[in-house]
Amino acid sequence: MVQDPARICEILVGLPEVNVLGVDDSHPVLEIHVECRGPRPGCSECGVFAHLKDQRIVTLVDLPCFGKPTRLWWHKRRWKCPDRDCPNRSWTEEDRRIGAPRLAMTDRAGRWITEQVGRCARSVNEVARELGCDWHTVNDAVLAYGEALVDHPDRFGDVQALGLDEVLFVREGPFHRQHFSTSIVDVGRGQLLDVVPGRSGAEPKAWLERQGPAWLGQVRFATLDLSGSYRAVFDAVVPNATQVADPFHVVRLANEKLDECRRRVQNETLGHRGTKADPLYRCRRLLTKADERLGEAGKEKLLGLLRAGDPRGEVAMAWHAKEAVCELYTHTDPELALEWVDRLALDMEDRDHPTEVRSLGRTLHRWRLQIAAWHGALVTNGPTEAMNNLIKRVKRAAFGFRRFRSYRVRALLYTGKPNWSLLATISPR
Ligand SMILES: [Zn+2]
Repeated sequence: MVQDPARICEILVGLPEVNVLGVDDSHPVLEIHVECRGPRPGCSECGVFAHLKDQRIVTLVDLPCFGKPTRLWWHKRRWKCPDRDCPNRSWTEEDRRIGAPRLAMTDRAGRWITEQVGRCARSVNEVARELGCDWHTVNDAVLAYGEALVDHPDRFGDVQALGLDEVLFVREGPFHRQHFSTSIVDVGRGQLLDVVPGRSGAEPKAWLERQGPAWLGQVRFATLDLSGSYRAVFDAVVPNATQVADPFHVVRLANEKLDECRRRVQNETLGHRGTKADPLYRCRRLLTKADERLGEAGKEKLLGLLRAGDPRGEVAMAWHAKEAVCELYTHTDPELALEWVDRLALDMEDRDHPTEVRSLGRTLHRWRLQIAAWHGALVTNGPTEAMNNLIKRVKRAAFGFRRFRSYRVRALLYTGKPNWSLLATISPR
């Protein structure tokens, strides 16, 4: 046990090679004054021992100390070269073990908040309140440490099943316009590889090309939503990979068509948008529920509501179409798959069917190979869906992102599987 008061102080403050000059607890924030006690340095230009010029105090946000927000007052020494002819006139000492230049936070606090915000998906606001500092101080540190961690070259290796998926990252500006991003995903491992701005093919294509031909050569399966621009990217950069339509998006499209049909029929039969009293409006949730989750009572109710609000049986037809699409994924026989998709597409394109069902049939036809390929590849839809849910959690914690850079770092810290054991050793950007 240490009993020397000066040493006790140093241990509690926990920084290497510093003298604790004093402590001020007369404010709501605890202030700890320190100075480095490293030896007098030599001039970096001429090597002569430097002279002490003066001191400059820098205040850094530190980890809370015994339940109190804490500031480290670092009395930095300024040195000057005694040689009047030397171009190196004066400089301020740096010690990255205490704090990185430019950041208003100690190094240990920076690493800690990166884990709080990045790994635990706590909000920047919440952490800033805990440290008693402002939002920007925390966010700058998360970007500086987080970017170094997510851009570490070992974060991911070869990828066999690659996925592209569009994600809404913010609504902003006049009319709350939507801004999209593209997630690049290792579908096999369930790892977010990166996010790039926009939902066109240009950015993901450039990203993939940067990985190089050897990396691209390992990709055996390429999963995508039903988007032509991602298809073109895969055609160009991984022409030998088997393209697989993500079941999650195929089923979602069938649900969207069903919803379109319901709203159209509602409008045509009653002449207004759905309200609480309308049978079609009342069954909208039952319609999108999977058949096996409806139960007998739910099904009875659904059929009753359809009888009341769907005189030509169009919504019922769209509902059957959606269920048939879901059933595509209840079997895993690759032999049967293409035949099944073709028959389904053909049935749906029948002239007597509602326009939404025919449109769904045309899409199934256009993507028949990619849809059937799922049965051979068996890359499940789980990872993409799980990934999107995780990203949503990050977005909720951030109340939406304004800057793409913040969004990228936060999404990758949370769902990109960075090697957290490296956090102690990386250098902040
Ligand atoms: Zn000098």
